[in-house]
Amino acid sequence: MFKKILIANRGEIACRVMRTARRMGIATVAVYSEADADALHVREADEAVMIGPAAATESYLRADRIVEACKATGAEAVHPGYGFLSERPQFATALAESGIVFIGPGPAAIAAMGDKIESKKLAHAAGVSTVPGHLGIIADADKARDIARLIGYPVMIKASAGGGGKGMRIAHDDAELRDGFRAAAGEAKSSFGDDRIFLEKYIERPRHIEIQVLGDTHGNIVHLGERECSIQRRHQKVIEEAPSPFLDEATRAAMGAEAVALAKAVDYCSAGTVEFIVDRNKNFYFLEMNTRLQVEHPVTEMVAGLDLVEWMIRIAAGEKLGFAQADIRRRGWAIEARVYAEDPERGFLPAVGRLVRYRPPAGDGVRVDSGVYEGAEITLYYDPMIAKLAVGGGDRGMAIDRLKDALDGFFVSGLRHNIAFLSAIAGSERFRAGDLSTDFIAEEFPGGFAPPASFTAADRILLIAAAIADAATGTGAADRVVLLDGAPHRVSWREGAYTIDDGGDAVCAASDWRPGQNLLRLRLDGRTATVQIEALPARTFRLAHGGVVRRAQVLSPRAAELLLAMPAKKPADTSRLVLSPMPGLLTSIIVGEGQEVKAGEPLAIVEAMKMENVLRAERDGRVAKLCAHNGDSLTVDQVILEFE
Ligand code: ADP
Repeated sequence: MFKKILIANRGEIACRVMRTARRMGIATVAVYSEADADALHVREADEAVMIGPAAATESYLRADRIVEACKATGAEAVHPGYGFLSERPQFATALAESGIVFIGPGPAAIAAMGDKIESKKLAHAAGVSTVPGHLGIIADADKARDIARLIGYPVMIKASAGGGGKGMRIAHDDAELRDGFRAAAGEAKSSFGDDRIFLEKYIERPRHIEIQVLGDTHGNIVHLGERECSIQRRHQKVIEEAPSPFLDEATRAAMGAEAVALAKAVDYCSAGTVEFIVDRNKNFYFLEMNTRLQVEHPVTEMVAGLDLVEWMIRIAAGEKLGFAQADIRRRGWAIEARVYAEDPERGFLPAVGRLVRYRPPAGDGVRVDSGVYEGAEITLYYDPMIAKLAVGGGDRGMAIDRLKDALDGFFVSGLRHNIAFLSAIAGSERFRAGDLSTDFIAEEFPGGFAPPASFTAADRILLIAAAIADAATGTGAADRVVLLDGAPHRVSWREGAYTIDDGGDAVCAASDWRPGQNLLRLRLDGRTATVQIEALPARTFRLAHGGVVRRAQVLSPRAAELLLAMPAKKPADTSRLVLSPMPGLLTSIIVGEGQEVKAGEPLAIVEAMKMENVLRAERDGRVAKLCAHNGDSLTVDQVILEFE
């Protein structure tokens, strides 16, 4: 077994790999960029080597620097994590040439699966069912139109070199195809330096279900069952679970057999994932194979009861798989939710900032994989994931209940994050019913994620929490009025119990909350609920529970009477302004001063996290003034242009 390994990655996955290495008695070496000098993965490693500036192309993507770091520290093997160099065959080759072991599959298998077109051809030849489409490179938009008509709309436009949902567009007709082809090719060029595009049938309302495989260097390959990853936004996973609530034994076995056949066809060793989309009739189609550890691997580890990183290391050291397909047992249910620094209320745009508070939950069946600490910074340079929260339970219902509680208890402040959004999904009837599809988020949150307009069961809890917090802050138990997002609710105190004037019963709520604490646990209606709380000035609190986030201002009944009699102030009119929806680079202003534009026409392009975001006119009008220039770095809400 190796004595020392290097982890060519950062963030949660670097920390997660080190945890297993440490347990196996293997010393660890971290590499880091200038921006990551204070990162958790650097702190947790036995040794750390600085490999370059913040930009990944100058640090985490520099194979030569990583080889040098191995030589300097005497690391015998490299775990690449996911992303960065994990699926670059040249990296595996460069390591081998220096006598360093790559903890992953061989370069030939990586190369064979690295290209979406080539891997589909290979899968087809291995008897794996693939999405109907055209497995050739498409020269231009006219050719694309002819092929799309042949396949039949809707079609999916994809970049052959694609990954991370980049360079992917859906087209329902010729016009969408023309726009989508251009956009996909542009995005593919800027993200991968390769603008080869192909088309396939767009499968409507599919589920994303993938099979985890594990092979050794002695020709043994098994699969560890499936994960369902249908909860996605922008074609990227947000919530994953194992097993899938959709599969029956026969489909599971058939998918597992095809995944193993594909892995065998490329002499696969190490951990890998074969991704499929599955239609309503349980027809499944191969999407791609990821020749690395997957972000969502913890759910498989939790139900299969093994450590995938440990097996990757053992296999790389030449050990045989210690079990056969028939030995694999899966127990219970596991669900993972990805906590991102992003703004669900603004189209899931990435957010940056400092984690002023970072308090992950803990407890039975709760696993948090994270690469941050309180006070750490989430920057524009890398993936905006804060943590992965995985929970296990005896069955799916228990796992969902645990997930809801754990999310209520996951406190993050200082930047925009998606925890309330994850709670809203976990708490939805449709999620509980297991009625999933990759369109789940678009269908359940059609106007984007926003606080519910109506008074919900969670609001009852928030009202009581506001009353308890206000009482504990000094006013004592008394009647009060709580303005919940501005709407007044009377909360009365009678003989040791609170009553809300909504016709409901009096609730006797108890909590030992003290000012300064971020979680208020209260017992109510015989169960415990956790409310996230931040005190703001003037008897005001920001409260969150079950995916509902509100501002609660507490008033005495007398003050409420006076305040509510005053006319409301009008909010400032910003409808004439086009604001940057995110921090990013203004790559192009499409319109000029004095130009007439129609609603829907493109105005400007802002690039953030390598994604092009086209800002379009919300209404007809004439451009009065340009307030920013091509090449400007924009802050969120910076004015780009003004309409007359
Ligand atoms: P990437 O490698 O960029 O992540 P994938 O090919 O793995 O791209 O696809 C990502 C997601 O896009 C899938 O999980 C699925 O939701 C959606 N998708 C991809 N291809 C199709 C298709 N042909 N029809 C419907 N949805 C698709």
